[in-house]
Amino acid sequence: MSKKWVYFFGNGKAEGKGTDKELLGGKGAGLAEMTNISIPVPPGFTITTEACVEYYSNNQQYPEGLTTQMIEAMGKLETAVGKNFGDIACPLLVSVRSGARVSMPGMMDTVLNLGLNDETVKGLASSSGNERFAYDSYRRFIQMFGDVVLGVGHGKFERLLTDMKRAKNVDEDTKLDAADLKKLVDQYKDVVSTETGRNFPQEPKEQLKLAVNAVFESWNNQRAKTYRKINKIPHEWGTGVNVQAMVFGNMGDDCGTGVAFTRNPSTGDKEFFGEFLINAQGEDVVAGIRTPNPIIELKTVMPEAFAQLEKVYQTLEKHYKDVQDIEFTIEKNKLYMLQTRSGKRTAKAAVKIAYDMFREGLIDKRTAVLRVAPQQVDQLLHPMIDPKSSYDAVAKGLPASPGAAVGKAVFTAEEAESWAQRGEAVILVRKETSPEDIGGMHAAQGILTATGGMTSHAAVVARGMGKCCVAGCGSINIDEKGRKFTVGGHLIKEGDFITINGTTGEVILGQVELIEPSLSGEFAEILTWADEFRTLGVRANADTPHDAQVARDFGAEGIGLCRTEHMFFDGDRIDAVREMILAYDVDGRKKALEKVKPYQREDFEGLFKVMEGLPVTIRLLDPPLHEFIPHTDEDVEKVSKASGIAFDRLKRKAQELHEFNPMLGHRGCRLAVTFPEIYEMQAYAIFEAACKLKKEGVNVIPEVMIPLVGHYKELEELKELVDNVAAEVMEKTGVKVDYLVGTMIELPRAALTADEIAAHAQFFSFGTNDLTQTALGISRDDAGKFLPQYVEKGIFKEDPFVSIDQSGVGQLVEMGVAKGRSVRKELKTGICGEHGGDPDSIAFCQKAGLNYVSCSPYRVPVARLAAAHAALKG
Ligand code: PEP
Ligand code: MG
Repeated sequence: MSKKWVYFFGNGKAEGKGTDKELLGGKGAGLAEMTNISIPVPPGFTITTEACVEYYSNNQQYPEGLTTQMIEAMGKLETAVGKNFGDIACPLLVSVRSGARVSMPGMMDTVLNLGLNDETVKGLASSSGNERFAYDSYRRFIQMFGDVVLGVGHGKFERLLTDMKRAKNVDEDTKLDAADLKKLVDQYKDVVSTETGRNFPQEPKEQLKLAVNAVFESWNNQRAKTYRKINKIPHEWGTGVNVQAMVFGNMGDDCGTGVAFTRNPSTGDKEFFGEFLINAQGEDVVAGIRTPNPIIELKTVMPEAFAQLEKVYQTLEKHYKDVQDIEFTIEKNKLYMLQTRSGKRTAKAAVKIAYDMFREGLIDKRTAVLRVAPQQVDQLLHPMIDPKSSYDAVAKGLPASPGAAVGKAVFTAEEAESWAQRGEAVILVRKETSPEDIGGMHAAQGILTATGGMTSHAAVVARGMGKCCVAGCGSINIDEKGRKFTVGGHLIKEGDFITINGTTGEVILGQVELIEPSLSGEFAEILTWADEFRTLGVRANADTPHDAQVARDFGAEGIGLCRTEHMFFDGDRIDAVREMILAYDVDGRKKALEKVKPYQREDFEGLFKVMEGLPVTIRLLDPPLHEFIPHTDEDVEKVSKASGIAFDRLKRKAQELHEFNPMLGHRGCRLAVTFPEIYEMQAYAIFEAACKLKKEGVNVIPEVMIPLVGHYKELEELKELVDNVAAEVMEKTGVKVDYLVGTMIELPRAALTADEIAAHAQFFSFGTNDLTQTALGISRDDAGKFLPQYVEKGIFKEDPFVSIDQSGVGQLVEMGVAKGRSVRKELKTGICGEHGGDPDSIAFCQKAGLNYVSCSPYRVPVARLAAAHAALKG
């Protein structure tokens, strides 16, 4: 016996049910469920998504048994309706609609009024007693079938319709009479013959087969493919096909059609929300040919049908316990439901609806938390482009840090700062940013770069600041010296307004209206519910007291990564740092470092105070020496003055320090293996700050972290250095502070030898930015040039710098945890790479058994929610 490909629904009973979405598609499952709970649904049958998958794996041929099962189902349908398909006296007409597992609104194809031909149209006219309606349905059918199945452009038919309306001097198609529509039918058929070289198919069975094929084929049309890519829907799923008896909204003024949501999908307010059209068929609402009316007006025009609709929508919402997006048709004052599915909603609405439904007792807390998608709530935490505004983007880069920003283009960090001081809103436009640009980045509303990937400097820093950033926008041509850029024939000079959308990567000329984020009471409450379920801790990557405060306000339970290098670039400190790097001996370095220490101590004090009672992980200096080297003669001159070393000597030293691969060069703990006094200075600053505050009664919990360790001996040596400094400071101040010394696991060798390393580490924090870079052998800074194509081609499902490469890098994390804990059972483990704020990566961290994730302050709410989802979904 062949497999069951076709599921019937009708007469109050369906073969499928609401939970069969995978098999029947969302629409098919909804129709089955509605039938089973006695909602008025026209009968029909669903061809399974499996049949579509078979069709594709079978050279676009139907699987065995499908045709027979369709014929049988059609027989049942004829009995249920009491009309026959192709009957010239009183024909049964059907709709043929797509329906995938998850809704892909408008992406695939639909054919209505199928079964009409030159003969059955006459039968429809006489059986309905409405010739106008019959020919209106026929012309609609030829148009849709012609477009969807035969590939004749929709516009060709629209033009004829418009001409006809013009000739008759009417503005709406409902005003055309039967004779006009008959003429149109002839014209439409002519178009089909000319365009396709064959007559419009008259045989209903052939029409049905062609339409089902077309729906199968529409699974792979370009827009469906693009939609799936954007929404991460697998290409292998296939679509279901729903063949359903037609009910007619176009039979007169006691008929109509509409779409509605059981609550407002934009605000979440508990109000029936939607639109309808009188004397129309479904596609008219979507096609925008006529302007639909607000649903509430239906109450006045068709009170009886509205009362039915009200009852049905309430039943559906209670039954599904979620907002429903419904489609209905009213035929001669009687209501029929054509679709119900869970309604797509904005982040704001998702939060409000989940909160309200819990309060109404419709869902439990667990469900309420699961109803709010972590990916989505990011929208609530940044200013964004007003969804009501319309605009054209001139370029698209990587959506590196969400939100939107409007400002005048400036091309240097200094300009950004000085313009901002004058009260101007600016967008900092750079080829790529460097740590030196930090002040300008901070002063700008947003950052736009031409190169760099999702973990490029600009992207990481912008996310940390919660600042909008579009990175790696290759189509803009920047002339930093000339203070201008060109894109697609436009020239943008310093001071010209631009808008960037860091959520989509779009770059727009001029000013677009923005709206402020609102962290509503309901959102805050849902996050506390999330906290009840999650088992992963959530910390923040924060380098300044301000960022730490933001993180704490968003619910961070500590700092998981403080990158101390940012502190080296602030104000005049960079000069002292350069002096240290270019010094020729230990004494020179120590002298320069002494100048930096007071600043560092102050920085740490600030962080400890804000994070009182919570752990603060301070990572000792990491970036390549290369980044600190003075590039201009002016900078060398400054160092020369401060240090008393001759200009030429310093310049030569700067040249000697040049590196070919700084990211794999003299950085991280390697700096301290060669120049221990750097980490020593930092350790003094940390413990002097900690002891001072402890004396004042502040509860400080420092965790010192050594970066880029690949060999346990590196850690062994540097831990001893830190412990010695700690002991010395505590001895001197007479204060005891509990602290930990741990390491980052961010090199494959560290993961492979995590057992050896754990003997010397009190915690591990996985630096998955570097771990991804080194495991994949893909430079973080150059990835932007080719990774997008890798994702496009499906080599990587997602950018591995954004969502952890679970099967590759993930193994190193799992191995690191297991090996580490084999030596130190209670080893605390966390993640502080950018992945710490990515919901899918957070789910992975849960499975890998980490204790906490650490992410940028503005992603803390996302991480809290994602951690709850991870715990609840197991
Ligand atoms: C990492 O490598 O994942 C990390 C957090 O460190 P950084 O991004 O500063 O190299
Ligand atoms: Mg790193």
